[in-house]
Amino acid sequence: MSIQNITVLGSTGSIGVSTLDIIRRHPERYRAFALCAHSQIDKLFEQCQEFRPRFAVLRDAQLAGELAERCRLAGLDIEIRHGLEALIEMSSLPEVDSVMAAIVGAAGLEPTLAAAKSGKKVMLANKEVLVMAGELFMQAVREHGATLLPVDSEHNAIFQSLPADFGRGLDACGVRKILLTASGGPFRDTPLAALSDVTPEAACAHPNWVMGRKISVDSATMMNKGLEVIEAHWLFAAPPELIQVVVHPQSVIHSAVQYADGSVLAQLGNPDMRTPIAYAMAYPERIDAGVESLDLFKMARLDFFEPDFERFRCLQLAYDALHVGGTASAILNAANETAVAAFLDRQLSFLGIARLNEAVLAAFPAGPEGSLSDVLAADAEARHLAGQMIRENRFA
Ligand code: NAD
Ligand code: MG
Repeated sequence: MSIQNITVLGSTGSIGVSTLDIIRRHPERYRAFALCAHSQIDKLFEQCQEFRPRFAVLRDAQLAGELAERCRLAGLDIEIRHGLEALIEMSSLPEVDSVMAAIVGAAGLEPTLAAAKSGKKVMLANKEVLVMAGELFMQAVREHGATLLPVDSEHNAIFQSLPADFGRGLDACGVRKILLTASGGPFRDTPLAALSDVTPEAACAHPNWVMGRKISVDSATMMNKGLEVIEAHWLFAAPPELIQVVVHPQSVIHSAVQYADGSVLAQLGNPDMRTPIAYAMAYPERIDAGVESLDLFKMARLDFFEPDFERFRCLQLAYDALHVGGTASAILNAANETAVAAFLDRQLSFLGIARLNEAVLAAFPAGPEGSLSDVLAADAEARHLAGQMIRENRFA
């Protein structure tokens, strides 16, 4: 077995740290080839000491210089780079076998696209890539012979519940429905009136999963599930009406597929992202992920509810954007990233997130997805308008 050289985009984040844990458990299989992060220099330096990658990347030149100096003093022979160009390079170098795409948000689009264009094995956590440029990304995967493995727990579960040749079409495989499960987040039962006072701290306290702040807020608004509907659409070539969101507060069934003969295949497990990460890393093999097996005897009950599209307006907006097509979902994603950042910065209320998203989505006629520059232009315009609306306090 040859060792797999992995570039970790977003190594200091929640998914990145879990990925490094799998590498740590299987040094004979995996090597951290490049570790890439935004600005958490202390954490990245620690990771460099432990994993000794060939390259480490930070966002800006000054921090990169500081990291290079620290590595030099520690006697570590690691090349330090910075900026978007370096991220693209780390995704494309010939020595790289696979790329863990775990940057949060639009910042991950170009490096992840570069990994697909270089025919790598792409382990995709960064769902915003598919939301922004699903058509372009899937086309790059096909044209360059890349292997795409979903890391998002629901999509990983769906992938595991589909036949290996699902690429010939869900209909041909006898698929009736994809059941995309959702925990409903921390505010599933909170009285509507109380939602106007939600703080960033409360929104980030997810009942079942420990995650980065952006996706935690997205889970609280259920925009995360909306983004995942769009993600499932692209990954599995599933029309929107085939994707049914099922609220399942225990997060034990990670998603399921319903077939024409009445069968429902699902993947179950404890809510720990190391399971889908290890699955993607070892595919088609299975390896120890350090995750305890599910104890069916301890599992008291499993509940299922229909989603409330009024309470979780963002979920509806995602279906709307998918129906419009073209750049609509890139516009929604850009509005949402801006809104979530403003909410975390206490510039926008919790309920303001959905209102802002809706207003920005309505303000633009979506064009065709076209090229990467069309997508990036739509993203920039939507961010600009969202920023302006926040400054004018339109949705406070
Ligand atoms: P996080 O905030 O914990 O980590 C984000 C990582 O991206 C950090 O390492 C950060 O340094 C890096 N990063 C951010 N901007 C960057 C930039 N401009 N250049 C370089 N690096 C940059 O986020 P997370 O929770 O790990 O989520 C990462 C992605 O995975 C998101 O798209 C999220 O939706 C998806 N995801 C996460 C989980 C989860 O359980 N955390 C589950 C499913 C999917
Ligand atoms: Mg998910």
